[in-house]
Amino acid sequence: MRSVPNIIPFVDLTAQHQPIAAQIEQAIQTVLRRGDYVLGQALTEFEQAFAAACGVQHGVGVACGTDAIALGLQACGVGSGDEVILPANTFVATLIGVLRSGATPVFVDCDPKTALIDLVAAEKAITPKTRAIVPVHLYGQMVSPTQLLDLANTYDLLIFEDAAQAHMAEREGYRAGSIGVAAAFSFYPSKNLGAMGDGGMVVTKDESVAQMLRSLRNYGAPRKYFHTDYGTNSRLDTIQAAVLNVKLPYLGEWNRDRRRIADKYNTLLRPLHSQGILPIHNQSGAGHVYHLYIVRALKSGCVVDREALQEQLNSQGIQTGIHYPLPCHLQPAFANLGYRSGDFPIAEALCQEIFSLPMYPGLTDSQITQVVGTIESVLAHQDSRKISA
Ligand SMILES: *Cc1c(COP(=O)(O)O)cnc(C)c1O
Repeated sequence: MRSVPNIIPFVDLTAQHQPIAAQIEQAIQTVLRRGDYVLGQALTEFEQAFAAACGVQHGVGVACGTDAIALGLQACGVGSGDEVILPANTFVATLIGVLRSGATPVFVDCDPKTALIDLVAAEKAITPKTRAIVPVHLYGQMVSPTQLLDLANTYDLLIFEDAAQAHMAEREGYRAGSIGVAAAFSFYPSKNLGAMGDGGMVVTKDESVAQMLRSLRNYGAPRKYFHTDYGTNSRLDTIQAAVLNVKLPYLGEWNRDRRRIADKYNTLLRPLHSQGILPIHNQSGAGHVYHLYIVRALKSGCVVDREALQEQLNSQGIQTGIHYPLPCHLQPAFANLGYRSGDFPIAEALCQEIFSLPMYPGLTDSQITQVVGTIESVLAHQDSRKISA
């Protein structure tokens, strides 16, 4: 009889939800009783609580992380005629946000070990038109705040963080969202802090940026029916904010659990480095919040290529992902930006090698052991096939 393997999903949000389900239902009931569905009390409370948690004064809730980038840059005065530097290897929303602000995106390559934006390459990409840099704290690891501030101060650039994967990440004494003028967060359900639908926020130290954002998200009207800005409709729903208010106090605990999982993966995977399985490097110690746990199946050095490995893992019940399979500069929708294959060799090579292992609070030690054990057995099996062939 063939045994059915235990399925280990890539993400499981139910484990996190169950212990707080009653609290969440109560918070939603409170909104229902009040009826303040748009720009209601729970939103104001969450904006204050989340901004404070990031170590800044102002938070402005918007509909999603993409809007947080687009409207956030606009509120900082970035737009048409400005160049904005961003990494080629990020989720496409970073690019869409920059484009929607009206600015011209300028891609740069990444560091092969951390997959974070290469700040030496960023410096070379600076022109007299460069207005801002959008560092992406990819996978939950912050881009070095001190190096970013050095660069920004030297060339008089704004730093607008894409912190959509890095809620409460820390590095060099800074918390994600507190380095630059403003930062964008997403509360998409699978992010480290997730709503029960879409949501986003811009946090900022700058009162005038916050004020502009409150107008931009509300049809460009600082007061009702008086429109001073070309705004839009992009609010974080009160019900979503109520859910997020319940979840925020647990974020520290969930991030600690993600680090436990990453530590275990790191330890168990160490013997596999010599076989070409190499985790993305953590340069920020305990401040990494591991939104994702990424490994590379090296083109030179691993007996099995990434696709075959993923397929075999999947057939044994282990679900994996790729974040991301095609860098932004090669996405068909943005061909008009004029970039080509070969422009960012490191980002392009990483895209061919990376895959993401199951990572979510509640993933057990035995599940982690099962994931790594299965990778090990796939490699061993492949090795012996090669030898006998
Ligand atoms: C998720 C994400 C976004 C966009 O957030 P949405 O809420 O999905 O619009 C932006 N940047 C990065 C790096 C992300 O991971």
